Amino acid sequence: STIVPWRVADRKKVYMADLESAILYTLRVEAARFRHLDKERLSVLKQYVNLLVKYFPGRPAVMNYLRNLDLWLKPMTNVSGNEWEEALGNNPELPHARLPENTLWVGCQGSKPEFRGFPCGLWTLFHLLTVQEALLSPYRSSPPEVLPAMRGYIKYFFGCRECAEHFEGMAAESMSRVKNKDGAILWLWSRHNRVNYRLQGAPSDDPKFPKIQWPPQDLCWSCQIIVNGKRMWDERAILRFFKAHFSRGNIYLDFIK
Ligand code: FAD
Repeated sequence: STIVPWRVADRKKVYMADLESAILYTLRVEAARFRHLDKERLSVLKQYVNLLVKYFPGRPAVMNYLRNLDLWLKPMTNVSGNEWEEALGNNPELPHARLPENTLWVGCQGSKPEFRGFPCGLWTLFHLLTVQEALLSPYRSSPPEVLPAMRGYIKYFFGCRECAEHFEGMAAESMSRVKNKDGAILWLWSRHNRVNYRLQGAPSDDPKFPKIQWPPQDLCWSCQIIVNGKRMWDERAILRFFKAHFSRGNIYLDFIK
């Protein structure tokens, strides 16, 4: 077996390698599993790619790649697996539009290859997108686009079917009550913490990265307050922290060639 070098990551940072790897995996692995993308799946995929074009703060070549894919997808009503694969390849004639060929996990690297990686990258990507939508959208008080697009992606494409069912349960229960972009940030944060709580100590839990209620105090000291002797979250501080943590300026290009 090959030995994967350990890449030292800082928990305070977001790594572009994880975000690009998650995008690569969604498009070239999960969405490429189908012999045929029917109208429903295609519409979910269009929404997802369009979201990336609008809100992913990527490197120029990656953004060009995503824009080309978005334009290619737009008029399509029916796509075969082969056509999809062809559309996804890097075109040697367009060197300024490309997505990396291999995944590279940095903040999401597991202590063993079977731990972390893609699901960690996918959470990170969607948290980032909820924040970028809140920062960039001119319609801050209108309902978010990111959450419904994420719901569609998870339901139709996420390979862990048990996870997808759990997530769909939470979405059906309360996602429609999210009124604005800040609400979307908080909804995803609190649902991710619920998942962390449920998975504590599960066999899929990387012992080197135990599931915690996030963010821990060393990442955000003001996020937790004591009320009547009880530890509580301060949602205003959470929002401030998310908008800094998942900002463009906190995304690092370490290990990217
Ligand atoms: P992850 O939970 O993947 O988190 C990634 C990173 O995000 C963490 O390292 C931390 O930096 C940050 N983070 C942690 N909590 C939060 C938070 N609340 N808000 C913002 N950032 C945070 N696995 C199952 O076994 N059963 C399931 O039902 C299941 N459901 C899932 C549903 C979804 C939608 C997804 C994307 C994944 C699901 N998984 C499930 C996988 C599981 O949640 C983890 O992704 C996986 O176990 C890897 O864990 P991790 O330690 O890398 O941290």
